[in-house]
Amino acid sequence: MIIKKIETFSTQNLCIVRVTTDDGFSGWGQTAPITADITAQIVHRLLAPLVLGKSCDDMQALEDSCVDSRYTFHGTYLFRALAGIDAALWDIKGKKEGKSVAQLFGSDRKFVDVYGSSMVKEVSPQWEVDRIKKLMQEQGIKAFKLHINKPGEYTYSLYEKDTDVYPGRTEELITLFRKTFGPDVPLMIDSNGSFSVKRAIEIGHFFEDMGVEYFEEPCPYWDFEKNAAVAKALKVPIAGGEQDYNMAQWKRIIDSKSVYIAQPDIGYIGGFTRAMQVAKMTEDAGIICSPHNFTCSLLLVYCIHMNAILKNGHPFLEYSIDPEEVDPWSNGLFTPFPDIHDGKVAVPQEPGWGVELNEEWLMKSSYAVSEI
Ligand SMILES: [Mg+2]
Repeated sequence: MIIKKIETFSTQNLCIVRVTTDDGFSGWGQTAPITADITAQIVHRLLAPLVLGKSCDDMQALEDSCVDSRYTFHGTYLFRALAGIDAALWDIKGKKEGKSVAQLFGSDRKFVDVYGSSMVKEVSPQWEVDRIKKLMQEQGIKAFKLHINKPGEYTYSLYEKDTDVYPGRTEELITLFRKTFGPDVPLMIDSNGSFSVKRAIEIGHFFEDMGVEYFEEPCPYWDFEKNAAVAKALKVPIAGGEQDYNMAQWKRIIDSKSVYIAQPDIGYIGGFTRAMQVAKMTEDAGIICSPHNFTCSLLLVYCIHMNAILKNGHPFLEYSIDPEEVDPWSNGLFTPFPDIHDGKVAVPQEPGWGVELNEEWLMKSSYAVSEI
């Protein structure tokens, strides 16, 4: 199969990619979101010249050649853009073989369990616990992740600080969560890399006492040695890796044991193919892989397929419970939307990713095309 056309449909926050091959197949993909109008330009300027006219039978080889050829451009935008082309190629592969992406890997799972991922940090502990209670009752969600520390823009000079809005919120929130729901509801904590090693270890001992399942990004992600030091000092497992796209860095992260739960983001890492490469590395290392995603965009669908495939996946997949706060721009992008029932979402069974883009959304986007 030769790639003959690449189209983008972009808004400020989303970039949808359609790839068409010489045998008449087309597939849909999505890049990493936010400033996606810039990512669309990267698709056409940096990647289209390298993939048009090339065979996509070996996706890994084609994408590795893109990464190698653009070695002076390694940075988030290159990998964000590559993720969109990669996803479209998986959609084509599934459609051509009449299988969903999960089925291409031999998975016959129909459902995956999700955890409710709270994205807000500036709400009171009582408000958070009240809405979790409601989500448990109405949607049957059985596990939760809470974000702690300073809301809004990260201010790394303010390492030891809790949120300015509710000083002491972290301890109060977790204590109230346990008091309300008991010791058995899985609870994960994410600090978005906002602690020093000293403070992360100190608060990590509190998490251990409170039965926290894992502690995500204790220290800034680029200082993987700091996260390794925290991991070494604590019993609570450390999670991380959502920002990382470089495979040599991933090897360092895994070899240094800085995480026990690896969280590749399919959009940031450069696509499903590369996320599955990390999954293989984690499987070989005997650790857990749990794809990261904060949106209700197509990335959620990709993560559902990935979680259905993984043998070393986490029992619960991340699912944002704050779509209105975080990504209202994903609303109306595709159907059917994977709503939660009894704490689970359905794994799409139709060929490819198993979802359809909404024509109305596409009509409102900016269009660009590169072709042979
Ligand atoms: Mg995180």
